[in-house]
Amino acid sequence: MPIWFTMDLDVEFDNERFGKPYGDKNPGVEKGIPLFLSIFKKFQVPATFHIQEQADVSASISLKYPQILEAIIKEPNHEIGLHIHFERGYDFDSREREIASGIRRLEEKYGKIVSFRAGKYFTNEDTIKILEKYGIKYDVSPYKNTSIGNKRWYDIPDSPYHPNYKDITKVGEAKILIIPIINKRLGIFVDNSIPLKLMKKGTNVLISESRKIEQPIIIFLSTHSWKCIDPKTDGFQRGYNSAF
Ligand SMILES: [Zn+2]
Repeated sequence: MPIWFTMDLDVEFDNERFGKPYGDKNPGVEKGIPLFLSIFKKFQVPATFHIQEQADVSASISLKYPQILEAIIKEPNHEIGLHIHFERGYDFDSREREIASGIRRLEEKYGKIVSFRAGKYFTNEDTIKILEKYGIKYDVSPYKNTSIGNKRWYDIPDSPYHPNYKDITKVGEAKILIIPIINKRLGIFVDNSIPLKLMKKGTNVLISESRKIEQPIIIFLSTHSWKCIDPKTDGFQRGYNSAF
């Protein structure tokens, strides 16, 4: 069976990495997203762009960069999702305020939003309940084999699962689907510190395995808008570009 390849990106203010205040230039968004779009077009890769929206209007990617969102939705295979960074200690109501405003802002212009990723992968039981209330179908935040957000994600399933409302690291009855991030499998390390040849080797293993099985293999690769930008020069990172 074929291998299906899809990507998702957190499209966020560069201060999430570089420590600049909101409102400054964001080369990760301004230069990074057009670069990603051209690469996706060249290789016909569909992608989900999780757009950072905070209740604070000065921290809204869609308000600051409408042209970037227009460029994304112009391509028929791409999807807009929601990305929110919660402050530590946010309770249910604070989380709902952030999620509700983000969804409202995106859906007003870009249609139904069904996919979500929490900043720093920090989702929890409250988040899941709120996401369901607002019609989100997928949470792609949980990061297997980490303990992000005071949760132990070590024993979560390798594959997409419906979580338990009381403990989302366990399988349960929730309607939302968790699509976990797995940082390594079959030798593919999704980390720019690992040599590219290891990724190529892992990909070759996948290609040969895909010929033996009935089900398609789905590769889901996750990155950030600013990953291809060199923080010192605001230009493209050479090593990153060569990965494509
Ligand atoms: Zn983020």
